[in-house]
Amino acid sequence: MPEGKIIKALSGFYYVLHNGETIQCRGRGIFRKNKITPLVGDEVVFQAENDLEGYILEIKERKNELVRPPIANVDQAILVFSAVEPDFSTLLLDRFLVLIEFNHIKPLICITKIDLTNHDQLVAISEYSEQYRKAGYEVVLTSSETATGIEQLYPHIENRISVFAGQSGVGKSSLLNAIRPDLELKTSGISTHLGRGKHTTRHVELISIGNGLVADTPGFSSLEFTNLEAEDLTFCFPEMTKASENCKFRGCLHLSEPKCGVKAALEAGEIPKYRYEHYLDFLQEIKDRKPRY
Ligand code: GDP
Ligand code: ZN
Repeated sequence: MPEGKIIKALSGFYYVLHNGETIQCRGRGIFRKNKITPLVGDEVVFQAENDLEGYILEIKERKNELVRPPIANVDQAILVFSAVEPDFSTLLLDRFLVLIEFNHIKPLICITKIDLTNHDQLVAISEYSEQYRKAGYEVVLTSSETATGIEQLYPHIENRISVFAGQSGVGKSSLLNAIRPDLELKTSGISTHLGRGKHTTRHVELISIGNGLVADTPGFSSLEFTNLEAEDLTFCFPEMTKASENCKFRGCLHLSEPKCGVKAALEAGEIPKYRYEHYLDFLQEIKDRKPRY
């Protein structure tokens, strides 16, 4: 039986990508019985009735599942932050990174609107980029206006499902337009979501870019640490995960415990002070269980 990937779900039909062609499929009763609904991003086995239509027979086990937008098997979150307008914020970036890491999705940091920076701002952004690279992240600097850095994004998009994330107004739609100019998605002022007007039906669609697929709706719109426990937080900071191997106590939260590897790395300048401070902020928030911003 042929296999494919659902790239769009609309009005009871699932559009399955198979060998570069899209086949319009219906689900079968079995999904209702098993209380499982096919999701965009699902790997499925289907039976073709002809070149264009078929039935989904089976949904393969999911690697993960985002709720908003509803999409399965997300490999990568392209975290879009603007260098300016709005100003770059490491606090907000770390917050997104924690949520993405917690969902076992690979983040790619994309700092855009580089064309709007003055000399000092560009120097500061370059320094932050180096610090995040040192922490273990990939960072790309782009401008959708001048197309700077856009080429660098393509290899990151190949052979995986990506979803954009980031505050409103940072340039997510513009970036998607820049990597796929024929799409002409609407940018801010007209639409709050990628590629659609405010009042149209909410549905998510995966757009083919080369051999990769990119969701047309941004993810991680809720930034609350609802399911995170204090013990999870270290593992959402890759450089702290590494340093915590030297903590004497298991379950060390790197506060005032003796012989703490994270504190030692902080003092040695291996972990930026602001990253550790954000860790403390988030830890307190998890303990209070009330979002503070
Ligand atoms: P979104 O809400 O994250 O999808 O942001 P948009 O893509 O709608 O962009 C918000 C505003 O920033 C729009 O007015 C864009 O024209 C502008 N913008 C986005 N990217 C860039 C960029 O790289 N350079 C400049 N100069 N403006 C940009
Ligand atoms: Zn520790």
